[in-house]
Amino acid sequence: MAHNFLSRLTGSFAMPAAENPTVAMVEAAYRHHGLDIRYINCEVPPERLGDAVKGARAMGWIGFNCSIPHKVSVIGHLDGLGESAAVMGAVNCAVRRGDSFIGENTDGKGFLQSLRTVTDPKDKTVVMFGAGGAARAIGVELAFAGAKRIIIVNRSEARGRALVGLLNAKTKIAAELVCRTEAYRLPDEAEIVVNATSIGLYPDIEGRINLDAACLRPGLVVADVITNPPRSPLIRDAEARGCITLDGLGMVVNQGVIGIKYWTGIDADAGVMRRALENLFKA
Ligand code: NDP
Repeated sequence: MAHNFLSRLTGSFAMPAAENPTVAMVEAAYRHHGLDIRYINCEVPPERLGDAVKGARAMGWIGFNCSIPHKVSVIGHLDGLGESAAVMGAVNCAVRRGDSFIGENTDGKGFLQSLRTVTDPKDKTVVMFGAGGAARAIGVELAFAGAKRIIIVNRSEARGRALVGLLNAKTKIAAELVCRTEAYRLPDEAEIVVNATSIGLYPDIEGRINLDAACLRPGLVVADVITNPPRSPLIRDAEARGCITLDGLGMVVNQGVIGIKYWTGIDADAGVMRRALENLFKA
């Protein structure tokens, strides 16, 4: 029997890279599906990113993720962009198509895929806290998925305005901004609430977004991007009040599922990938 010792290659370019668990999650899926593919977690400083992408091309990588600080600068090293990555101006997943590397953004798509397990955002009103990179990715994908209206609640007016302006100019969603210091009360028509800020992230794990928790009602969909810890204060408050909750791990896992689909065409098992992450955080 002829052996094939040449694995296909994927990976990640970021700095820092040591704390990124994506490799464990993606390789668990590769093993589960019997795919002879490796995922190499690489620490790449900003001034070496061009060399890293050239290296990936030279070695025939089928794709790679990139994270902080490369999500914007990587665009200059790629051959084209997918639709939502072009609107966001940020890439976290490069996909080889023929001889080209095309930049996609799976941050918001991973969120959407997680959201769709409980609801379809089409024609819905969403309240989203935050206006940074994660919020931008989520806002653009919600708009492309047909959400009707998005109310962005953000601390800094400048960042909030920039995101509202982008969404109103480049998508069909009706976006508006709320910047205030008192606790925000959800309007009755809001059906989905998203925390896309870094509030609740380790080490400030008791941090709460500026939301009047009395508005959390049964049946409301409440999603958080925070993964560490996944049971954030918002998720706990929402569960206690009978909301439907989605934690940040769902978003990460679905980003992995979408990346593997782009690179290989295979629908990876999200349950296997989630368990790989949960086992790491439990240990
Ligand atoms: P950014 O730095 O780009 O944005 C941070 C956002 O949080 C801004 O809107 C900022 O408001 C707000 N914020 C931070 N601290 C406070 C505070 N104390 N009070 C009020 N607002 C605050 O970060 P990202 O968008 O890249 O990431 C946000 C979070 O999303 C991170 O925790 C990250 O880990 C998580 N993430 C999760 C993913 C997943 O797959 N689950 C994927 C990507 C990110 P302001 O504009 O006023 O500064």
